[in-house]
This record gives sequence, C-alpha cells and structure tokens, in this order.
Amino acid sequence: MVFDKLFIDGVWRPAASGATRPTVNPATGETLAQVADAGREDALAAIAAARRAFDRGVWSDVPAPKRGAMVRRVGDLIEEHAEELARLETLDTGKTLEESRWDMADIAGIFRYFGGLADKEGGEVIASPNPDSTSLLVREPVGVCGQISPWNYPLLQAAWKMAPALAAGCAIVVKPSELTPLTTLRVTELAEEVGFPPGVFNTLTGPGDPVGAELAANPDVDLISFTGGIVTGKSIMRAAAGNVKKVALELGGKNPNIVFDDADFDVALDYALNAVFFHAGQICSAGARLMLQDGVHDAFVEALAERIRTIRLGNGLDEGTEMGPLISAAHRDKVEGYVAIAQKEGAKLVCGGSRPDDAALAGGFYYLPTLFTGCENAMRVVQEEVFGPVITVERFRTEEEAISRANSTIYGLSAGFWTRDPDRIARVSRKLRFGTVWVNDFNVYFTQAPWGGYKQSGLGRELGRIGLEEYQEVKHVYQNHAPKAVAWFGVTGGK
Ligand code: NAD
Repeated sequence: MVFDKLFIDGVWRPAASGATRPTVNPATGETLAQVADAGREDALAAIAAARRAFDRGVWSDVPAPKRGAMVRRVGDLIEEHAEELARLETLDTGKTLEESRWDMADIAGIFRYFGGLADKEGGEVIASPNPDSTSLLVREPVGVCGQISPWNYPLLQAAWKMAPALAAGCAIVVKPSELTPLTTLRVTELAEEVGFPPGVFNTLTGPGDPVGAELAANPDVDLISFTGGIVTGKSIMRAAAGNVKKVALELGGKNPNIVFDDADFDVALDYALNAVFFHAGQICSAGARLMLQDGVHDAFVEALAERIRTIRLGNGLDEGTEMGPLISAAHRDKVEGYVAIAQKEGAKLVCGGSRPDDAALAGGFYYLPTLFTGCENAMRVVQEEVFGPVITVERFRTEEEAISRANSTIYGLSAGFWTRDPDRIARVSRKLRFGTVWVNDFNVYFTQAPWGGYKQSGLGRELGRIGLEEYQEVKHVYQNHAPKAVAWFGVTGGK
C-alpha cells in the first residue's frame, strides 16, 4: 500500500523533510504501509493554503445547494468503496470487519446528512425594537478549521468533523492519528475526485506534536476540533487561547451502565457485554463501569463471567472473530498497568487479566476480556479511563446510591440504565449528568442526535443540526430603512 504523501493545496506531496513512518497492523504487529510524516513546515503550508482558499471564498461562495451536493457525493463514493475502506480500517485498527462495515455505512450517511443540511439553513428574521428596520440573523462559515482525530474510530471521528465543516463552507486541515491514518488518506483521494477547490480540503499525517499542536496554536486557524484523550485536550485548549480560536473537544469517558433489580436480565446481560467489549473496549462511551443492584448482582456476575469466557479473540479479518487486539503494544502495557492497579486496590479478578496464551495470536496486541468485582467508587480502575476490555462491577443498594456513584466522576460523556419502572426512568434520566443517557440500551449513537460530553468529557457537540452549527458563526445584520438624525451630539444654534 502506498500512502506516503500529504494532501496540501490540492496536490499530493511528500513531507518537506522526506520522512515517513510505518503504520502497523495490531493483529499481527506487521507494517502495513509507510506514511508521510509531516512536520511543522507542512502544517504551516496546509494552514496557509486553507487560509488563502477561505479568504478568497472559493468554497464558501459556492451556492449552498452545490456545496451540499458535493459533500453528499463524498458519501456516495464512500458507499461505493465501503468494502475496501472497511478492510483498510480493520487492518489499521484491529477491529472486526463487521464493525468496520457498520462504520462505513454510518460514515456515508454522515456526509449525506450534512450535505443535505447545507442548503436548509436560510437567514432568520428576528424582532427588532425599531419598526422601520429589519434584523436578520445569518449563519456563515467559521473559517479555517483544524481537525484532529483519534485512532479508535479513525474515519468515523474524522467524518463527524469533515462533513459539517465542508457543508458549512469552511476550509479544513485534517490530521488523523499517526497510528491509523489509512482510511482518512483514502477518503482524501475520494474527495479529490469530487473536486473541492485547492486548499479547501487538506490532509496531514504526522505526530500530534508538532503537527496537531501547530493546528491548535496557529493564529490563522479559526477553530480547532479535537477528539482524543483528556490530557491532549487540555493542551489544545491552552494552545488555542493564543488567538481565542473556537475549541471543540470530544474527550474521554468513564461511562456507568446501571442494572436495577427489575431490569430485563437477559437483555441487560447481553448489552453489558456489547457495552464494553466492542472494539476491545477502545470506545470513548464504553460501559466499562457496570453497577449492579443488590438483588441481581450475584446471578448477573456469574452469567457475565460465563459469557465473557466464550468471547472469541482473533484477527478482525477472520470470520468468527468477536474481539480484535488492542491498538498497540504501548496501549496494551497501559491496560495491563490498570489491571495490576485494580488488583492492588483490592478488586477481585473473576476472569481474564492476562494476554491470551494462543500461539496464533502471539504477534498481535491481544488482551483477554477481563472482569473485576468488588470494585469501589474511589478505585483508580473505576474512575480512570482504561480504554481496554476491562469491566469493573460495583454493587449498590438504592437508586440514590446508584445516581450518586454514577455522577461521581470528572467525566460526563454517556451513561445507561436498565429498569422497567417508568417513574424511575424519569427520575434517573433527569439526575444523571452525562451528554447522552441510554434507557434500556447502550452505545447507540446516530447522525441525527448530537454527541458530546458534560464536565471534562468535552466542549460542544458533534452530529445533529448542532454539529453543523459548531462550524458556523452567527451574524446579526441590522438595517435601518428610515434613518433620521437624532441630533444627540453637537447640536448648535446654527442648525
Ligand atoms: P490522543 O489524545 O493521544 O490523540 C488524539 C489525536 O491527537 C491524535 O491525532 C494525536 O496525534 C493528536 N495529538 C497528540 N498530541 C497532540 C498535541 N500536543 N497537540 C495536538 N494534537 C495532538 O488520543 P488517542 O489515544 O488517539 O484516542 C483515545 C482517546 O480518545 C480516548 O481518551 C477516548 O475516550 C477519546 N475519544 C473520545 C471520543 C468522543 O466522542 N468523546 C471518541 C473517540 C475517542
């Protein structure tokens, strides 16, 4: 596979330094491709190209129906190339092919949705205090946008940013994670086919620092949108303060999944597994923090352990694989570190807790699905984002206790709970402090519904109409139709 160039100002070119870096298949440890390794010079070139394109209006002045049609066309091309893209995503991330196929269908829909919104946003007339005037609100593109995406949903997370920004008329500089750049590069090729004017769509592959850091700090960037870890998110916010650029952050989560005694046991059990073991737990909304009410706790743990022991690990390309590897050796070290911490903190390991001893999996970064019980609120493994196939179980007695435990986190991305009691549904969904609350379900997100976090899980929202508005400024145009002098200042006798 050849993906050794950056896309800047409508042209594919190598990194200014000539450097490349490998991207690795986490299922085997083998190098998949050598990818251009951009540096600061490349970031400056891409930002300058986007700035020129935006300031000349080569995209924002294109009539909205045509802009929308071009964004929708990206979705069509993604659909046409869905199988190829899904395979690339699986090779680069390790997730199962089935999951990658869902992602591609979702992503095609995202481009269609935002392309469809592009010409639905007219101006809005608002009431004005002067009857001889018109007050108009117009939405305009925010300008040059830096867009930094993570490795767990490489193309999906990038699409949440690219599609609305392009639909709004912005110029973008996209930087995928250095661990998983392939699908973003392939979609850049597809976007080239669609024919966005040079400078409107730029893609840089390279490290967070300096490439992402430059996007966050550069005064020619009007908005920085970032999905990734909380520590990086905070550094982006600090860097963005230099020119008070707009900041959109989708950060981590520690997402409670609460099962009350009156829940549908079998369905809740099934979803408890889905909540945390999809993509080996490397999901910002993973329901890694399972909270079980007293009456159901013991039976649920027993049934959960039984199901966990049957999960089939393997290469995501292989038929029958249910869970793939972790993204890298370094990330597996991190997950192992948390397992050790949990044991030191007194959590009881029920199953997993090690690498698989299957020789066929030895080259990849696999880790067994892991279950801890006897977990307490204050434990690090309960409070911090492990981002791996590790589920912690806490026992609770009352609804109040469940709510207070669930909310006792710096994060606020998503939460789910299971009950048949309609009054409890109303009470608990109101009390949970999370950007998304699932009732009798988990990990459902779709293009029409906004996604984002309370508290330290982020700033702003992606998806839905609000996801387009993130890329728009609101301008108030006030026109006086009958201007008359008010003669407040400098009225003299000569007048
Ligand atoms: P990360 O913060 O390490 O990296 C994310 C991106 O930021 C990468 O492209 C990286 O190159 C770049 N980056 C690194 N240092 C940078 C810097 N100093 N300045 C600018 N950019 C920099 O995160 P990750 O490990 O790739 O992703 C995992 C994290 O993402 C998890 O915490 C997860 O919860 C979060 N996430 C959140 C959501 C959400 O919707 N809230 C979705 C997916 C992932």
